[in-house]
Amino acid sequence: SAPFLSVRDLHVRFSTEDGIVKAVDGLSFDLERGKTLGIVGESGSGKSVTNLAVLGLHNPKSTEITGDITLDGEELTRAREKSLEKLRGNKMAMIFQDALTALSPYYTVGRQIAEPFIKHTGASKREGRQRAIEMLTKVGIPQPNLRVDDYPHQFSGGMRQRAMIAMSLVCNPELLIADEPTTALDVTVQAQILDLLKDLQQEFGSAIILITHDLGVVANIADDLLVMYAGRAVERGSVKEILTQPRHPYTWGLLSSMPRLSSDVNESLHPIPGSPPSLLNPPSGCAFHPRCGFADTVGAARCTDERPLLELGRAAACHLSAEQKQTLFTEQIKPR
Ligand code: SF4
Ligand code: MG
Repeated sequence: SAPFLSVRDLHVRFSTEDGIVKAVDGLSFDLERGKTLGIVGESGSGKSVTNLAVLGLHNPKSTEITGDITLDGEELTRAREKSLEKLRGNKMAMIFQDALTALSPYYTVGRQIAEPFIKHTGASKREGRQRAIEMLTKVGIPQPNLRVDDYPHQFSGGMRQRAMIAMSLVCNPELLIADEPTTALDVTVQAQILDLLKDLQQEFGSAIILITHDLGVVANIADDLLVMYAGRAVERGSVKEILTQPRHPYTWGLLSSMPRLSSDVNESLHPIPGSPPSLLNPPSGCAFHPRCGFADTVGAARCTDERPLLELGRAAACHLSAEQKQTLFTEQIKPR
């Protein structure tokens, strides 16, 4: 049967004063119900834009989208705003990085949690308030009966993030998109919020897309990973496959710059040299070639000339041979 969410050959282009930005450049992935897909990459890799396109939240005047996004059999790229509006907050919902931008300072937390519920189910205000209290309880806000009437500024940062999660889950969405949901929080609260998301997923059975620049965040919560670079997916696989047998030089870089819990705190990390390319004028061939230390291993200018493609399933978009990917990682990258 067809996957719950399927994205095929997605291209997202923006017009800017300086030219066309290819924010997403030929992206395909699938996601099943109840599963979590982590999308990992540096800022500007296209991970947030991809998800705004799924939700239909891009600006239609300056954005051109091609390709197919199918959610539970419904085609979204050509859907009208009206049908997308019915889906948003209901069948699909989003958790943003910063609760302060998602919550209005002028309304009580309870009213804002109740709003999508009332809108999509036709519940009364009273039922909405009851539902808000129930959701505040689920996300672990103490004294929910009292807190429901607080304004966002009366909540701590971690509590606001919980309130936003309550708001996004209030209609039992089947697809939840969380964009850097814990970046603004301190480490302890981060872990609590991720645990909460995991628990709620068990309860609601939602599919989750978790967008992050931090491999550590997805390691414990995602089933599958998609690594993005310059608007393209460069590697996909299960979390375990990618953390233990990564096959793409960019993923090797991400892993080497990730602090390891077991290692000495003072051990110097290996950040990837250089910075992500401009998407106005992305590099030819493999977009990672200006930063990659392995183009010479491939040789004959193939990396600068020929764009490596990413197959569906376990795959890495790189011209190195399967054997080279394995031995380079085991012999050179892993021992560092
Ligand atoms: Fe590096 Fe070439 Fe592989 Fe790109 S295709 S990641 S430049 S080795
Ligand atoms: Mg982003």
